[in-house]
Amino acid sequence: MRSLDKTRNEECFLCLAAKASTDEEKRKRLVLWTTPLSVVVINKFPYSNGHILVSPIAHKAEMEELTADELLDLSRQTVDVIKLLKHAVSAQGFNIGINLGRCAGAGLPGHVHQHVVPRWAGDVNFMSVVGEVRVVPQAMEQLYDELIGEREKMVKNVKT
Ligand SMILES: [Zn+2]
Repeated sequence: MRSLDKTRNEECFLCLAAKASTDEEKRKRLVLWTTPLSVVVINKFPYSNGHILVSPIAHKAEMEELTADELLDLSRQTVDVIKLLKHAVSAQGFNIGINLGRCAGAGLPGHVHQHVVPRWAGDVNFMSVVGEVRVVPQAMEQLYDELIGEREKMVKNVKT
């Protein structure tokens, strides 16, 4: 059955992440932060350690459905993610992009999300060290705590 409410989809992990309200739920869903228009989460199936998704809160499949404010906020949060990853995991470069539609490789074609994948010179990063092994849950939680801590420090620095 399909939800008629196009702004939310009960089976969509980004919608579930967007409405996580408690710290516990946010941690479970790897939600780093939200704004009134966007949600920022760690990708559970990362290409590299620190692979983050930035998404509009609204469940929209196409870029052209996003409002100007949603597009602007998506870009702003992407910039914040870049700053965070430079600080937290010393990222030296980034691959940033959006896959639209299944044929383009979108794993979740119903809800637009921007990938931010940190890169390092020679890519001597966590993932290449562990080879093909998928990041284990403990490592994911550790990364989550690290990023949350770094984000708090950065937000404080901006305020003072
Ligand atoms: Zn959704």
